[in-house]
Amino acid sequence: FDNHFVEAANGVKIPQLGFGVYKITKKEEFERAIGEAIRIGYRHFDTAKIYGNEAVLGQEIQKSGIPREQFFITSKVWNTDHGYKATQKAFEQTIKRLNVDYLDMYLIHFASPHYIETWKAMEELYVEGKIKVIGVANFEIRHLEHLMKHSEIPPMINQIETHPEFPQNALHAYLNEHQILHEAWAPLGQGNKALFEHPELQRIARSHNKTVAQVILRWHLERGILIIPKSSNPRRIKENSEIFDFKLSGDEMEMISRLNSGKRYAINPTGYIVNP
Ligand code: NAD
Repeated sequence: FDNHFVEAANGVKIPQLGFGVYKITKKEEFERAIGEAIRIGYRHFDTAKIYGNEAVLGQEIQKSGIPREQFFITSKVWNTDHGYKATQKAFEQTIKRLNVDYLDMYLIHFASPHYIETWKAMEELYVEGKIKVIGVANFEIRHLEHLMKHSEIPPMINQIETHPEFPQNALHAYLNEHQILHEAWAPLGQGNKALFEHPELQRIARSHNKTVAQVILRWHLERGILIIPKSSNPRRIKENSEIFDFKLSGDEMEMISRLNSGKRYAINPTGYIVNP
C-alpha cells in the first residue's frame, strides 16, 4: 500500500500509518503478525522497552532482508529509566536489543518525575544522529510547557490516547499551534464493541464500502494524526492499511467527532499504574 508521510518539525518524513506492537507477546504470534505486516508494506513500527518485544521486532526486521533505512522504528524510555545517565543507558540497551545503530524515533513514555534530565540525554543523542526524531507520549499541555521552558529542542511529537470517544480536541489544537505532531495510541479505541457497533459509524462505513475500523483510521488521517493500530490478525492487518483510497466528507468528519464521550483507557498521565 502507498503510505502517506508527515513531516516532523526538523523535516524528517514519518509514515503516517504505523504498526503498534503492544501486547503481542507470544513469539509465534508476533513473528506471524510482523512478517505479514512487513509483507504488505508496513515499515513504521512502534515498540517500547516495557513491551518486552524489541528483540523479536529487530529479528523480524532483519529477517525481511529489507534495508534497515527503509524502516521507521520507534521505542520509548520507561518510567524507571528517567534521568540523564539512566536514559543514556536505556537507549543503548534498546538499540542493542533491536540490533540497530540508530532509532528513528525515541519517546518519553510518560511524564514521570525527572523528565527534564531524561530529555537532556535525548537531545544529545539526537544531535549525535543516533535518534532522528525525539518526542514524548502521554504529555498534557502543562508537561509540554514545562519541558519547552527548560530545554533547548522542543519535542517533535506527542503520542497520546486518541479515538472518536476521546478525540483530544484541546491538546490537538495546542500541538498544531506548536508544530508538534500528534500521534494516536489506541486509534481504534482498543477495538471496543460499543464504538464498532455505533450505527452512525456503520452507516458511514457502508456508504464507502469500507469497515468501521477503516473509517475510524481515515478520520485520524484527515485530522493529520499519525496512527499505530495494533492487530495480530492478518486479515485485519491488511484491512487497516486499506485507508488511502477514500475520503470522508466534512459532515462525516463532524459526525465522528461528535462521538466524543470522554471515555479513556489511560488513567494517570504520569504513568504509574496505567496501561502502557
Ligand atoms: P488499538 O486502538 O490499536 O486497538 C487494538 C485492538 O483493536 C486489537 O487488539 C483488536 O482487538 C482491535 N482491532 C484491530 N484492528 C481491527 C479491525 N480492523 N477491526 C476490528 N477490530 C480491530 O489499541 P492499542 O493496541 O492499545 O494501541 C495501538 C498501539 O499504540 C499499541 O500497540 C502500542 O504500540 C501503542 N500504545 C502506546 C501507549 C502509550 O502510552 N504510549 C499506550 C497504549 C498503546
